[in-house]
Amino acid sequence: MTAALSASGQGARVLVLEAAGRVGRKILASGNGRCNLANVGPASYPGGGAFAQNVLRQCPVSRVLDFFHGLGLVTVEEDGGRVYPGCGQAAAVLDVLRGAIERRAIEVLCDTPVQRIQPTKWGLRVQTGGKTHDASAVIAACGGMAGGKLGHDGGAYQLLTDLGHTLTPVKPALSPLMAEKSAVRGLSGLRLPAILTLCGQKGQPLGNPFQGEALFTDYGVSGVCAMELARRAGEEKEKTGAWPTLYMDFSPMLGLCPRYYGALDEAWRDPGRHLKPMRAFLEDRAHTLPKDALLQGMVPRLLAERLKGQSLPELARSLSAFPVPLTGVRGLEYAQVTAGGIACREFDPDTLRSQLVPGLYAAGEMLDVDGACGGFNLQFAFASGIVAGEQAARTILRP
Ligand SMILES: Cc1cc2nc3c(=O)[nH]c(=O)nc-3n(C[C@H](O)[C@H](O)[C@H](O)COP(=O)(O)OP(=O)(O)OC[C@H]3O[C@@H](n4cnc5c(N)ncnc54)[C@H](O)[C@@H]3O)c2cc1C
Repeated sequence: MTAALSASGQGARVLVLEAAGRVGRKILASGNGRCNLANVGPASYPGGGAFAQNVLRQCPVSRVLDFFHGLGLVTVEEDGGRVYPGCGQAAAVLDVLRGAIERRAIEVLCDTPVQRIQPTKWGLRVQTGGKTHDASAVIAACGGMAGGKLGHDGGAYQLLTDLGHTLTPVKPALSPLMAEKSAVRGLSGLRLPAILTLCGQKGQPLGNPFQGEALFTDYGVSGVCAMELARRAGEEKEKTGAWPTLYMDFSPMLGLCPRYYGALDEAWRDPGRHLKPMRAFLEDRAHTLPKDALLQGMVPRLLAERLKGQSLPELARSLSAFPVPLTGVRGLEYAQVTAGGIACREFDPDTLRSQLVPGLYAAGEMLDVDGACGGFNLQFAFASGIVAGEQAARTILRP
């Protein structure tokens, strides 16, 4: 939609072909129905970072926000630079896009999956069911496979691989973590602030930890901070054949360190970082409280029940580095974004033009770019759409 509006803004005649019954379904599901549409903080793209940075230099977050403000959207900025519609409704983001598409009289055909793109003498021919559409330029923005029915089944990648583009293998990113049942037994439904660190088989920390709200489920651990670690956990499994262990530090819940939401730096890597202060904290409580009341009023009841009977040193260890051996990462159906996709190196990062097929452009999650939680994925989709639309139109309309 941003590609269509940006191309139309340059004077191009645009046709939008949408496989689903309506456009923008992922926008409605995003940010728990609030749509975290961008992030004004430093860009964070664990996948395709260099390519994404280049695109965002052409279209920085200020330009994405100007684009939306120009369509009438009021936005607010929250913790960690996250940008949301001021009214708190994801529908507002979709409404302003659809409203502008209608005002510009851009034709949108829903329930029209693209089945094939073929080069012709004059440009590209797009096949949809029984029909064909000839175009001077095509912008492929079919998204990824994450999000179950909200994503595609992989067929959209074939549109570009049939034209010679490469598909980097896809896997879930930003997905909940699965754990040994015994590690999370009795804790399902518990939501609490924690610092989450992944460690390999020798106990070595794998990358920087994340702090945020963790949610225990019957299959493992969810919540933004857990989902942020899915990509790294998958990489470790690929590299060593074994899933890493997740260590949960509950210090933020006890006021032993500031509560913060997001990625922590290297200084926080050691999962035992709060063992000493935790022990001192517990010893202090043990002076005034009987042993069986030590955990009361301090941790949620489900966790207290689980830790019952542990000695004070054991408790200090459990509360500062609660071990959760992982058994996997939930599949693409449960993921918010797809890692992998159409290889970025085959596209010019300044224009998003294919280096292999004249007239072809690509934008959004379809490319091998995945961002951290916090609005980075939609921001890249919007920004790359703006750049691709503008560049495609300029190429077509150049005298
Ligand atoms: C539950 C959930 C919550 C999320 N929350 C956030 C968030 O708050 N912030 C954030 O930044 N990101 C979030 N994301 C990720 C974000 O939604 C995506 O990265 C983003 O929507 C990608 O935009 P896109 O335009 O590339 O693809 P999409 O939004 O997936 O759009 C692609 C469109 O192409 C259509 N299509 C597919 N194949 C074809 C075909 N063959 N022919 C024609 N049309 C086709 C699809 O039907 C779809 O409408 C979330 C994702 C999920 C699943």
